[in-house]
Amino acid sequence: MEKLSKEILNIIKDEIWQYCETDASNIQFSQEVVNACKANLCGNYNKSWRCPPNVGEFSVLKAKYSEYGKVFVFTTVHNIEDSFDIEGMFEACKRHNRTEDKIRKLVKEYNGEVLGAGVCDVCEKCAFPYPCRFPERAKTSVEACGIDVVALASTLGINYVNGENTVTYFSAVFF
Ligand code: SF4
Repeated sequence: MEKLSKEILNIIKDEIWQYCETDASNIQFSQEVVNACKANLCGNYNKSWRCPPNVGEFSVLKAKYSEYGKVFVFTTVHNIEDSFDIEGMFEACKRHNRTEDKIRKLVKEYNGEVLGAGVCDVCEKCAFPYPCRFPERAKTSVEACGIDVVALASTLGINYVNGENTVTYFSAVFF
């Protein structure tokens, strides 16, 4: 395991559920994942600089992240009331992001990048369509870049689903 992955574990091991380091070439991208954003189930399509279609062209993002050597993938799992508990999922996503925030500075020191879960939450309300307030801190999700998380989980032996009344969030650290 690479030094960065070990350092990440030192910081957040107690907060994460499963993890795996792999070659970035194992990441599978799919235009279909980006297309699914157009259904706008989360309400953020075309509302944030870091969500489709404003985050960038699928082909450009795929090329960018395919150039990294390694990726450290981790999940967090959270209890929710049931599969309709949207508020519970929202709160769980915030908890996942707080865990992820703990490693962002470290990852930058390695010239890496974190792709996480959900819409960029740096500002209470995104400045879009006006210029991004904090381009150096803005966050992008794995799905916004077209990463097929279901396929990735299967490839790495990480559970995409972790039981009834739970929600699982993924992050991928490229370096
Ligand atoms: S940093 Fe703020 S303005 Fe920039 S993408 Fe994130 S929420 Fe939007």
